[in-house]
Amino acid sequence: ATAYSHVSGAPMRKQSDDEIIDGIMDLEEGSKVILLAPLVKGRKGHYRELFEQVGKQGFQRVRIDGDIVEIEKDMKVDRYKTHDIEVVVDRLVIKDGIRSRVSQSVETALGMGSGTLVAHLVEAGEDKLYSRHLFSPEDGVSYDDPSPNTFSFNSPYGACPDCNGLGTKKEIDPDLVIPDRTKTIDESAIAPLGEPRDIWIFAQVRAVADAMGFDFQTPIEQLEEDQLEVLLHGAGDRQFEVVYNYKNRQVTYQHRFGGVHGHIWHTYENTSSNKQRRWAEAYMRNMDCSACGGGRLKPESLSFRIGESNIADLVKMDLIHLREFFDGLELTDRQATIARPIVKEIIERVEFLLNVGVGYLTLDRAARTLSGGESQRIRLATQIGTQLTGVLYVLDEPSIGLHARDNERLIGSLKQLRDLDNSILVVEHDRDMIEAADWVVDLGPGAGEHGGYVVGESAPEDLPLGTNGHASLTTAYLRDERSISVPTDRREGSGETLTLKGARGHNLKGDDFHIPLGTLTCVTGVSGSGKSTLVNQTLYPILAEYFHNALEVPLQYDAIDGLEHIDKVIDIDQSPIGRTPRSNPATYTKLFGHIRTLFTKLPESQIRGYKKGRFSFNVKGGRCETCKGAGIKKLEMNFLPDVYVQCDTCDGKRYNAETLEIKYKGKTIADVLEMSVEEALEFFEHVPRLSRKLRTLHSVGLGYIRLGQQATTLSGGEAQRVKLAKELARPGTGRTLYILDEPTTGLHFEDIRHLLSVLQALVKKGNTVIVIEHNMDVVKVADHIVDLGPDGGEAGGSILFAGTPEEVAEQDSHTGEYLAAELSRVSASADEEEEEVDLDAMADDGDDEDDDAEEEETDSEEQLEEAAG
Ligand SMILES: [Zn+2]
Ligand SMILES: [Zn+2]
Repeated sequence: ATAYSHVSGAPMRKQSDDEIIDGIMDLEEGSKVILLAPLVKGRKGHYRELFEQVGKQGFQRVRIDGDIVEIEKDMKVDRYKTHDIEVVVDRLVIKDGIRSRVSQSVETALGMGSGTLVAHLVEAGEDKLYSRHLFSPEDGVSYDDPSPNTFSFNSPYGACPDCNGLGTKKEIDPDLVIPDRTKTIDESAIAPLGEPRDIWIFAQVRAVADAMGFDFQTPIEQLEEDQLEVLLHGAGDRQFEVVYNYKNRQVTYQHRFGGVHGHIWHTYENTSSNKQRRWAEAYMRNMDCSACGGGRLKPESLSFRIGESNIADLVKMDLIHLREFFDGLELTDRQATIARPIVKEIIERVEFLLNVGVGYLTLDRAARTLSGGESQRIRLATQIGTQLTGVLYVLDEPSIGLHARDNERLIGSLKQLRDLDNSILVVEHDRDMIEAADWVVDLGPGAGEHGGYVVGESAPEDLPLGTNGHASLTTAYLRDERSISVPTDRREGSGETLTLKGARGHNLKGDDFHIPLGTLTCVTGVSGSGKSTLVNQTLYPILAEYFHNALEVPLQYDAIDGLEHIDKVIDIDQSPIGRTPRSNPATYTKLFGHIRTLFTKLPESQIRGYKKGRFSFNVKGGRCETCKGAGIKKLEMNFLPDVYVQCDTCDGKRYNAETLEIKYKGKTIADVLEMSVEEALEFFEHVPRLSRKLRTLHSVGLGYIRLGQQATTLSGGEAQRVKLAKELARPGTGRTLYILDEPTTGLHFEDIRHLLSVLQALVKKGNTVIVIEHNMDVVKVADHIVDLGPDGGEAGGSILFAGTPEEVAEQDSHTGEYLAAELSRVSASADEEEEEVDLDAMADDGDDEDDDAEEEETDSEEQLEEAAG
């Protein structure tokens, strides 16, 4: 790369000692030259010791701020001014035969001047600068020789000193601090402080208001600029007279005021309470660091460029463009000799990444923001790069998040890995992947209790419809004997539309995004085409802010129309339903509250006076106190991750012996938690309230999970379906907008069928469902498709087409191509009878009497967590 001065932008040069000597010898014959070694450049000081030292070394003259003077005893300069000081090393007249003298003086000057020297041309009155370092003769900036560390934001040699290499800095956002400028302070205009009350910060604000001449009844927008400035940012050293009630006495203090922003910062930096820190963070945003512009490196490091691009520009390119950049690199012969092997390595690695379908990613994407599927595919790419043989690779659902086109590439990469003499074991639901396999092992026949048998084992085309009396659902779907049928007609919806205009976050190109309400709308497009940016990062935050006052900030957009036609938005994502082993599907869906109520109504409970709390494992009373109701105990292992073991007091049952004496139909509360949804459905068949909720869990294909299964052991797809079940149990308004991102993750064909019938049932009630999905089984049943593309990264972000699946299938696009294939395959197969889900049979009567009690438990759960560290 070429280095440029970060001050003037001029290209930098670097010279060997010989080149410097040649440079001086090449000056015009007979010209007078003074060689100077720079010692001080633009710094303040009197420099008495420096002059003394230079004198002792035998030099007689120095140049101070351009004037050459003799060194005298006790010489000094004005300590309050900045100075340039050079020592005169030699005075020469250029002519033949003085090369060895020049050479000696250059060595001395470079030695004293830390590698740089000045040649002053007396007749011309000008200075020429020479340096061993990367050096800009124009402005005197010099850099150390670059090393790999220079370009690492993890190294102090490379990291931007302002943001420590993070590229972003937390800054307080004034719009979050005062969200509504028409409000007055009395009306809680200052969001972080709330309503004025008798606390120290308000005593200060009142003092400032008195001194600056405003009051608490003035809308913020009517404050003078300087009044608002002091209110938010303080007044430096100025003292205010603060009157404060201290122990019922009025005390007056003289006090500085750091502003509301200062108050937030002070709390953020000094508090030891997580709660307080979260409070402060709520008013901050991550902004690009102003020093490095988000490039994370020192200005010097960012001044090395290949062509027009520095390293920060390169890591911001998506891999497709990065590949083009290196392909198009023009190098001189000398550069090519040095760079060719490195460029070859780079291109090879980029190529591996392109082959696993992540060409839309940029190299600067933070690892923690990658989806599970993306990091899995990146690891796969590194493996192909190592060219190892004889390895067994195990992959869990690598197709997650992949468009059919990218999936095809991924399958190609896996075959490449296989052909290097490796074995690959893939756990997968995806049809293309199964059909591409050399060998398939099919487990089943059902899920959970009903599974666990090998129901088929062969090459995919020879899979039997069943083995040992167990039928194979997988084979039935692969042979199209069972399939997810295509609806005969597509809904047009209510006629109302939600329109998002001008969304331009990340790679989006600002096209209008229309969602016909009352439909199942599917957002499609190859990986990285902008689906998630559009739906999760723009649309959802807008709606969440509008309907639920959420603090999420949407990416850039112009306008949204049609909000009046919906009344709430619900994002059903794959995040866990709880972070501790104490949450489980029963507590999350509030099913457990009803079960506990049932137990209190049993005669024995009535006699003993057992209340609902008795049957909770989160509060004292009925639970096992050894494990505090967790059923497990944490063993801390030195140097190893913590290990959980079953509690030996309660044998993992979570309750004490007295509680377990209470039985409903012969089962204790602990036994009930051990039941699967399916078993519980049968067990509680005659308790309508319970069976309704259980039916929701069953309808989303979760019949096999246990009621008390720890939240932490549920997969993302399972957690998502538990959330969906909870939603189904709510009495609906028929005007809700549901958003689901890849709900088929981890689902077998049969589970997808269940899920789709639930989604269709929601739409049938008038709701709108938006699904981001690659799975053609879902895409083909949508009422409306919005297809993004044409490709990933910068090459994506446009809305290519919107319409029914039949219309999209006719388009010349990646989605169109695969959808057409799917539609023609399915229409050839027998039509299935459509499964109906009756939402009314599942919805609650709306009186969840235990809601409050359940909330209390959630609190105590948090406390327990805090106590546990
Ligand atoms: Zn920075
Ligand atoms: Zn216990």
